[in-house]
Amino acid sequence: MLNLQFLQDDGTFAAAVIDSDTLVSDGKPMLSTSPIDGRTQVHSQAATPEVCDRVIARLQAAFEQWRLVPAPKRGELVRCFGDRVREHKEELAELITLEAGKTLQESLGEVQEVIDICDFAVGLSRQLHGLTIASERPQHRMMEQWHPLGPCLIISAFNFPMAVWAWNATLALVCGNTLAWKPSEQTPQCALAMQHLLAIAQRDVEDCPQDLSAVILGDREVGDYLTRQRAFPLVSATGSIPMGREVAQVVAARLGRSLLELGGNNAMVVTPAADLSLALRAIVFSAVGTTGQRCTSLRRLIVHHSVKQQLIDSLIKAYKSLSIGDPRSEHNLLGPLVNEQAWQAMQGAVKAAQQQGGKLLYGGERLSDGVPYGGVYVSPALVDMPGQTAIVEAETFAPILYILSYDTLEEAIALHNGVTQGLSSAIFSQDIGEVETFLSAAGSDCGIANANIGTSGAEIGGAFGGEKDTGGGRESGSDAWKNYMRRATNTINYGGDLPLAQGIQFDL
Ligand code: NAD
Repeated sequence: MLNLQFLQDDGTFAAAVIDSDTLVSDGKPMLSTSPIDGRTQVHSQAATPEVCDRVIARLQAAFEQWRLVPAPKRGELVRCFGDRVREHKEELAELITLEAGKTLQESLGEVQEVIDICDFAVGLSRQLHGLTIASERPQHRMMEQWHPLGPCLIISAFNFPMAVWAWNATLALVCGNTLAWKPSEQTPQCALAMQHLLAIAQRDVEDCPQDLSAVILGDREVGDYLTRQRAFPLVSATGSIPMGREVAQVVAARLGRSLLELGGNNAMVVTPAADLSLALRAIVFSAVGTTGQRCTSLRRLIVHHSVKQQLIDSLIKAYKSLSIGDPRSEHNLLGPLVNEQAWQAMQGAVKAAQQQGGKLLYGGERLSDGVPYGGVYVSPALVDMPGQTAIVEAETFAPILYILSYDTLEEAIALHNGVTQGLSSAIFSQDIGEVETFLSAAGSDCGIANANIGTSGAEIGGAFGGEKDTGGGRESGSDAWKNYMRRATNTINYGGDLPLAQGIQFDL
């Protein structure tokens, strides 16, 4: 059984947990409720600056030791952690469903992502390599080394309450860093569960230093306090664009490094050469999966006018067949929105779309029959838009799919790129010319560009992230590990002369 040991005598969670130690504070009381039925799950206290400072001092002291542990040994800790996550996969998924409201299938998928990134990081721990570069000087060697960076601060959003941390944490750990995590105020138990399993894994590994990781609970104020601390050379922040703008400015002001994974406004182009039945399945999963609350959710469908009506008819039919309700039931494909504000935002967006000339084709209603009382359950909305109006250009974190039409591929790409966000994108076409154009330098301007698959559901092996207002960060696979290290260029003279670069003469 997964036993979270961090409860205080009064039943509240402590403000911070480092290793397995709890730190209490007299900070702001917080409570989190489950999106399933609005019931209170957890009382906790926000960490005070004093608690944050105590945690930071311990993470700094642990970093001094951890950075000297060989990277493959650091990988051993991540391997043990991954084993613990495997052991508790179902319980962890249930916790995600409880706190974030995702369906159990999607929560299991998220825990699998944590396991996958652990495996990736273990392999990586033997491949943190630099280049050897030809020196212009005789008897000189030039090379680069990658060194650990320091304590890393991870700020995460509610909708991926374990995987986003794991993408950052597993890589940062094998790279030799210690970790502070400020999770979303919506999902404290998910964070404490990860912390708990990591602390157990530390005990599994011989001579593993303590205090490698901490969870610090709190709201945006606590996040802001932590972001300001020079002790964190890297701040990795996942969340909305307004949050990213604030974090980026604070970190830039102290010349720190920020890794931003922010909102998306993802689109799919469907051409006359598309396999429409394949496209249909991809559209529905991308648009309504996680009830439209993924950063990669499909929000704009840019469809050629010749196939538009056929696709709309199929989409309405598919939407009518969706089962919506308690995310713990395996029959339901859609769970609740996270809270009342999300419903207000959805309602407001549908109304604005109609005012801007859109036609509501389906959904956009709040449901009360056959769904748990106290949660916010909605029918996903399909809106036919006359053009890319202001509301279409904004990310509304809810299941609304705007449908736009086009005549030429050039026009489709212009519509596609005509928003400020740049996370995920897709084209459906069996025409290689269309596909290659969309993936080329003149095509999609997003960090993720797919052909004949949807916008959501990325694998961990590739670098994940987006351009423009999405923040420019890349996490997870490929060479994203370089974010968590500092590069040192070394030039070594093994001869008896001291030739200067660029042939400069400096004779004493
Ligand atoms: P949010 O921006 O409200 O909160 C995210 C986190 O930032 C929370 O932990 C919050 O406490 C903290 N925070 C807020 N303001 C802060 C500040 N000024 N300084 C420091 N910390 C601050 O986001 P949310 O509602 O939890 O999540 C939904 C958003 O996240 C959507 O926009 C979604 O697209 C985005 N998201 C992006 C990715 C990605 O990888 N690009 C992944 C998941 C979610």
